[in-house]
Amino acid sequence: MRITGSTRRRFLTRALMVAGATAVGLLQAPISLGREVGAHLARIKGRIIMRMDPDYPQWWSSMSWYMYMPKRYPDLIVRAKSEQDILSALAYAREKKLKVTVRSGGHNPAKAVLRDGGMLLDLSRLRKVEIDAAAQTAWVEPGIHGEKLVAALAKQGLDFPAAHTGIVPIGGYIMGGGLGWNMPERDIACRSILAAEVITADGRKLTASANENSDLWWAIRGCGPGFFGVVMRYKLQVYPLYHAMTKSKYLFAIDKLPQVCKALEKVAAAKKEQLEVLAVVGRFYPPDKPPAERDLVCAVSIFAFANSEKEASALMAPWASSGLPAQSLMKRENRIMDYEQLFSGQETDFSSPNRTAVENIWTDDVSKGLQALAKKMLDDPPPSPRCFALSAWGFSNTREDATSCVSTPAPHYLSWYLMAEDESHLALNRRWMDESVELLRPVTRGHYINEIDPQHYPQHVAECFSPESWKRLAKLRKQHDPDGVFYSWLGHGDQKS
Ligand SMILES: Cc1cc2nc3c(=O)[nH]c(=O)nc-3n(C[C@H](O)[C@H](O)[C@H](O)COP(=O)(O)OP(=O)(O)OC[C@H]3O[C@@H](n4cnc5c(N)ncnc54)[C@H](O)[C@@H]3O)c2cc1C
Repeated sequence: MRITGSTRRRFLTRALMVAGATAVGLLQAPISLGREVGAHLARIKGRIIMRMDPDYPQWWSSMSWYMYMPKRYPDLIVRAKSEQDILSALAYAREKKLKVTVRSGGHNPAKAVLRDGGMLLDLSRLRKVEIDAAAQTAWVEPGIHGEKLVAALAKQGLDFPAAHTGIVPIGGYIMGGGLGWNMPERDIACRSILAAEVITADGRKLTASANENSDLWWAIRGCGPGFFGVVMRYKLQVYPLYHAMTKSKYLFAIDKLPQVCKALEKVAAAKKEQLEVLAVVGRFYPPDKPPAERDLVCAVSIFAFANSEKEASALMAPWASSGLPAQSLMKRENRIMDYEQLFSGQETDFSSPNRTAVENIWTDDVSKGLQALAKKMLDDPPPSPRCFALSAWGFSNTREDATSCVSTPAPHYLSWYLMAEDESHLALNRRWMDESVELLRPVTRGHYINEIDPQHYPQHVAECFSPESWKRLAKLRKQHDPDGVFYSWLGHGDQKS
């Protein structure tokens, strides 16, 4: 089941092609200056792509990671190279009364970076990292990919809870919360933001931290794709790297799912924080067949973050003694891995550009939720055999705190991903998603802002926060962006579909 280096390279190449970015041509094409640019735009050293430019369609399609794009078209795209570019772009937007959205990597499944009209300010080329190993902190620019950040940190014996997919950049991931590696111990990643450099709607550069502009700091720690400013750099708390990270993986026939869930309930209740427990239902077996010919199974992956094999196996004890490993169709246990191997083992990444409908819940009853989704997948299979549901057991230990707007109202996380092989699947996925959202409502305690569909379920945006935090975010938005320079969350006010 492991994705090898070359498979991963093929996947990335395909994804780039899919994104429509005929990269070489795009990167080398001269700026289209056959039109009037204002003084502010003329100062920009990065790329400016206007709607009228012949290469706009390629640029537009490369702004989002996904294959199926919404019909929303920014008036212009500015790819910033520097702080000065950001300031000039915002000055131009204010002068022309253009609304702005900010992009770090375009992975947000709601394609929040694509709005109708206005300016898309692309920070994806800002990728510097400065590590202070003694202080265990790092200043990072938003475009840095998670895998590059952890590789740089690992060289100094340090670690950060980046997204489970290496190519997801830090910028939007952490602003929306960040469910990273070893989350039960490290907490949701945005709570590791010690400070941020922010450019506000009126063009001021501020530092936001516990001591300065602490309301902005609170908002950056989890508000997701509705932030009312540009984050240029984050100062992150980083952590000692574990020397014996292990992965154990098991595939179970789907009729074993009730027993697997029972065992995982016990493991989640007994486990130590350094254990990350995921169970994914999808068509994964046998792995050497194409997805359409595989059976629906449950894949359990357990990661132990330890400093020795002995410590890792002690962490695994509640699962090892459950009797379940012996009942698996396939297993590979206790393999020590570095991050490169962990990232390349994420086989569900393979079809991520095909995602067309994504939802998630925080829940107290993940067994019930996962089994309901598995039953629906069997009784009413979604169109693509690559659809899957992922559950994370005992993923969150902290609920709400006064220093971040993010909310993790229940211990378990459940998300599900519907892929399309062609356009005809889009409407079928929509119907399937609507039904599954209803099905899971009784066990839903809240949502995670980075993996919702705010246009189809606008009410889910508020349900990502406590009612108090939701009100406070609205107040801060008015205070820091009174003229509405920045787009709000999709589905909230200013969008066509
Ligand atoms: C394959 C894949 C795997 C994933 N795995 C995980 C995972 O393990 N854990 C997890 O938590 N999430 C995961 N995600 C979801 C991910 O967190 C979101 O997609 C996130 O929004 C991606 O960040 P981005 O920088 O690409 O965001 P973008 O799509 O670039 O931006 C989304 C929005 O964030 C805001 N924003 C972004 N950057 C800035 C900035 N610098 N300043 C101000 N506002 C900004 C803007 O409002 C923007 O519209 C995954 C997504 C994919 C596609």
